Amino acid sequence: MLMPSKEPLAALENASEFIARHIGPDSADEARMLAALGLPSLDALIDKVLPASIVRSKPMDLPAPVTEADALAELKALASKNQVLKSFIGQGYYGTLTPGVILRNILENPAWYTAYTPYQAEISQGRMEALVNFQTMVCDLTGMPIANASMLDEATAAAEAMTLAKRSVKSKSNRIVLAGDLHPQTIEVIQTRAEPLGLEVLVANSKEEWEAALAGDMFAAVVQYPASSGWIVDWKADVDAIHAKQAAAIVATDLLALTLITPPGEWGADIVVGNSQRFGMPMGAGGPHAAFMACRDEYKRSLPGRLVGVSVDVHGNPAYRLALQTREQHIRREKATSNICTAQVLPAVIASMYAVYHGPAGLKRIAQRVARLTAILSRGLAELGFTARHHDSAFDTLSLHTKDASDAILARARAQGVNLRKAWNEYLCISLDETSSRADVELLWSIFAQPGQALPNIEAMDEGSTSLIPEGLQRSSAYLTHPVFNTHHSETAMLRYIRSLSDKDLALDRSMIPLGSCTMKLNATSEMIPITWPEFANMHPFAPADQLQGYALLDAQLREWLCQATGYAGISLQPNAGSQGEYAGLLAIKAYHASKGESHRNICLIPSSAHGTNPASAQMVGLQVVVTKCDENGNVDMADLKLACEKHSANLACIMITYPSTHGVFETQVKELCQLVHSHGGRVYVDGANMNAQVGLAAPGEFGGDVSHLNLHKTFCIPHGGGGPGVGPVCVVEDLVPFLPGHATAGVPGKVGAVSAAPLGNAAVLPISWMYIRMMGEPGLKRATETAILNANYISKRLEKHFPTLYAGEHGHVAHECILDLRHFKDSCGVMAEDVAKRLIDYGFHAPTLSFPVPNTLMVEPTESESLYELDRFIAAMVAIRGEIAEIEAGRAAQDDNLLKNAPHTAETLLASEWSHGYSREAAAYPVPALRRAKYWSPVGRVDNVYGDRNLFCSCVPLESYGNAS
Ligand SMILES: *Cc1c(COP(=O)(O)O)cnc(C)c1O
Repeated sequence: MLMPSKEPLAALENASEFIARHIGPDSADEARMLAALGLPSLDALIDKVLPASIVRSKPMDLPAPVTEADALAELKALASKNQVLKSFIGQGYYGTLTPGVILRNILENPAWYTAYTPYQAEISQGRMEALVNFQTMVCDLTGMPIANASMLDEATAAAEAMTLAKRSVKSKSNRIVLAGDLHPQTIEVIQTRAEPLGLEVLVANSKEEWEAALAGDMFAAVVQYPASSGWIVDWKADVDAIHAKQAAAIVATDLLALTLITPPGEWGADIVVGNSQRFGMPMGAGGPHAAFMACRDEYKRSLPGRLVGVSVDVHGNPAYRLALQTREQHIRREKATSNICTAQVLPAVIASMYAVYHGPAGLKRIAQRVARLTAILSRGLAELGFTARHHDSAFDTLSLHTKDASDAILARARAQGVNLRKAWNEYLCISLDETSSRADVELLWSIFAQPGQALPNIEAMDEGSTSLIPEGLQRSSAYLTHPVFNTHHSETAMLRYIRSLSDKDLALDRSMIPLGSCTMKLNATSEMIPITWPEFANMHPFAPADQLQGYALLDAQLREWLCQATGYAGISLQPNAGSQGEYAGLLAIKAYHASKGESHRNICLIPSSAHGTNPASAQMVGLQVVVTKCDENGNVDMADLKLACEKHSANLACIMITYPSTHGVFETQVKELCQLVHSHGGRVYVDGANMNAQVGLAAPGEFGGDVSHLNLHKTFCIPHGGGGPGVGPVCVVEDLVPFLPGHATAGVPGKVGAVSAAPLGNAAVLPISWMYIRMMGEPGLKRATETAILNANYISKRLEKHFPTLYAGEHGHVAHECILDLRHFKDSCGVMAEDVAKRLIDYGFHAPTLSFPVPNTLMVEPTESESLYELDRFIAAMVAIRGEIAEIEAGRAAQDDNLLKNAPHTAETLLASEWSHGYSREAAAYPVPALRRAKYWSPVGRVDNVYGDRNLFCSCVPLESYGNAS
């Protein structure tokens, strides 16, 4: 007899399988946690946490979740709408061959991509070594004394160079001069950035205009070397002329070319920018890749972005840490010089490894091959009747005056699967790269040849070809001489070098990283897989729109879904970090006021608890920051806010709040707050970094926000990458949609100019967030939010007697994170929050956020992805540490020599024959039994930040300084 099936087919298909893979706790865990909180259900918890006034009016309208396999198939179909042609467009984006050992062991390896920004130096030595390699590589190739650990893209790096120059030079001029032969996107981003600061941008489009401009006043001038058209100009005399005006010479350059041509540092450049994309990062329709900035020594203390420096640990061994970190972490708030927070660490690591693997000789051979093929191409084209514009000099790019034949040639090229760049009306430009071959050169000749015209012969063209690198600009200085660039050239050696670095670090693949405000949740493998599909990876950002249809669809769908999640009407995915989303959002607010004839509105209210990027972004758009108070419960002080609104009513531009607040609480008065600001003509900016507490439950676009940024690298699963890449979409209500950033270079209209080099910013990582939303759907995303809140409340509750939570909402609950108060230990026994953070390393944990937003506290954000098992492991560690503190309080352990002050304990110190501490080695290394069999060893002892800042040193360490430690 046939038995009726018990379960419906749909249940067996399990379309929502991914939800339970993304969310750590299962239903039994959930029940146990709710019991600990004394609550009957998750709904009961959410009722108590979320103010009734902001509950969403209706659920998000998203497609129903699908399995991992189905989501991948759907995305593959979408990706295949991109047409991958051979791109010779250049303009800052080039084909590159990512070495397999780097692709698999870094770009596709969670030990690298799930790491956090290296604020905790001791558990970040591996990635910081890679970043020091990056800095050293940039310094060597540019000939400059100091370089930072990455910028967001070349165009924003140039814009940051402008403001660095403005605050550093003696000239009082407000004018910056740009050589017309810069990449157009660089010019555009500089123009956007200059406008709200009242800086005048003069673009010199001819030799005459350039000379006239140099005769006038300026605070800086920007040139490109080699130029966007391919020309390699000797700028020495121009740089002298710029210096004579007490102005700075800013040079945008190309790292591969610099292996062959005299570096800007040798002819007087003050600031050098560029990007490292062609060092192993696929084009990815414009990003992510690591741009860079190098500068003269005198400017180093106002260099934007992160800088990794060499210091020492307590045992006197060299150890890396973020240099000038207090400057960096707080981004100097109102006095900020830049708002960059998340940068491009993972791409910078990849670029540095590309240099480590190829070494100076390998890089030079690649560059020489590109240069030779370009010279051969040029000779052959001349035979065919096309002489390059600056035929006497080129590295990889030729510009041909094709006049009215341009469109016909372009069409022939497309038919052959080739993209060329059309520029300055009558020119076609061709850029070769590492991937270019003999066959490509022959193909290009065939495209330019007339029907029946005989094609040149490669060997013949090669024979007797002359170098197009100008005689006087051939590089003579050595570079990349440090052993690290001259050792790991076999794949075996490279594999082991990469592994040795990642083994030093603690990333999400080893333990939870409960960083408040940073949302270190699962970055699922299925989400990561599409980013290296050729249909996404090998796209040039300025390819014709019809070839970028897959990206256009990805963009449209993701924006639609994020509108559902936030309640906003329009979104731009262009900003490539949260900070850039803030900047774009404030530009929109400014442009809106200007459109109403109210440009005088220039006051930006910011509560004192705000993240440092908020005031930094406000000053970048020329808004004046007025700080308002928080009350004793950590909420915005409404009375103080009311006074500020009244006082500044006529000039109020906006308020910037974070919701839930950076104190980890849903403020109940947020709706009233929005109404109050609106009633004074101001707009409300809601920092969306804490959206993980809201998705599916509340939407800022509904409860009164006008603008928000999201951090897709927090809430929407793009991995942190050790400090980037990120995506910071800017989201706005209906009447601000016209003020979202445009991108003239890519043909995207807008009342506000470009804020990133590429129209879709870090386009290549957008598939990650797409996959997440597609696999979770509305039920999964809402569940994730609820679980994130549950996990935070569980930790807060379980630690209540040991480390009380500083701020809670009306009913005593927190949102998705909790601030543990450790301030009283300073008086009771001299223990600081930092000591607990370092002791957690001995227990195998990455510390929570330290001293933000309240000094001497720890902010814990477990996220929904951590299981009850992992939460309990963390709680057990914290309880044990509380016991260790009690020993000091009771006088049984010395205040200056105890388990916390000496943490983290290295294997080296524990294995030394001498042991003079008042506690055992076992207590130091194995405070909980499980550590005996699975232990993370910190490679260095506590790092001395002050020493490193006094003795700022930011390149590779000479090997001998390691002594017997290496
Ligand atoms: C992370 C964060 C930012 C900055 O975002 P980035 O992507 O790092 O530029 C801004 N505000 C808050 C509250 C944040 O947590």
